[in-house]
Amino acid sequence: MSPAAPSADGIDIAGALAWARARIDQMDARVLLRHVLQCPAARLVAWPEQKLAAEDWAEYRALVERRAAGVPVAYLTGTREFYGREFLVTPAVLIPRPETELLVELALAHFPGRRGLRVLDLGTGSGALAVTLALELEAAEVVALDRSREALWVAMANAARLGASVSFVQSDWFGALGDEHFELIVSNPPYVAAGDPHLEQGDVRFEPRGALAAGPQGLDDLAEIVAGAPARLVDGGWLFLEHGYDQAASARGLLADAGFAAIASWADLAGIERVSGGRWLGRAARDSR
Ligand code: GLN
Repeated sequence: MSPAAPSADGIDIAGALAWARARIDQMDARVLLRHVLQCPAARLVAWPEQKLAAEDWAEYRALVERRAAGVPVAYLTGTREFYGREFLVTPAVLIPRPETELLVELALAHFPGRRGLRVLDLGTGSGALAVTLALELEAAEVVALDRSREALWVAMANAARLGASVSFVQSDWFGALGDEHFELIVSNPPYVAAGDPHLEQGDVRFEPRGALAAGPQGLDDLAEIVAGAPARLVDGGWLFLEHGYDQAASARGLLADAGFAAIASWADLAGIERVSGGRWLGRAARDSR
């Protein structure tokens, strides 16, 4: 620890934040202090002269040092917000991202007012998609799978905490599924190219590589999912996939090759085509095209 750090007897909120701001982003400094003090943001502003207990100051310093070493804030606090709900995250799962909320919005928009939908989430990770869909779609039967047992523990904890009814299956894509069929399949699969320098930067360095990288072009898992989805969709069912910023045309190509109809891509809030999908109209419809 740096010798400039104030001693434990006297540090107050303002001093702790000033110490942290010399090391990490100002917003991160606040989020981590709120996490240690378990307090609302307003308290940091309203009561800057409040003294920190020695153990809180020690915990805060440790968190700030880890953040300075690059550990993502979500792994330090153990939580991340997704679609208005708080999800537990650990280094076993990808940190939920705001652009993935687009998948939720598309799913809801394509089945307005539908009850009892059968939904499959492939590669559920923290469970953010599966749990959100289970809570937003009335009486949906949601199945979520992941090949990582550690990820499934996190997803199950999130479903339990948020009161979502989701069935979890350990499976490498469709491998361990029974013969269920679904009206809706969603996935945020690994889609980063294996050699992408982005994998060595920022938060991504600390995330599970198996949830990120997918072959030389990043398309291996997308291709496997698109190829396997028709056998799992009811006629008229939809598949929506998140993909990389430059993969929309490739994703539409995979969907077309597999015989999907109504193929489209949708832009995220940054204006990047981030989700592509299509409708499965059945083998007869595919063969007559
Ligand atoms: N959006 C993530 C990133 O760019 C990748 C997520 C994924 O591969 N599913 O780091």
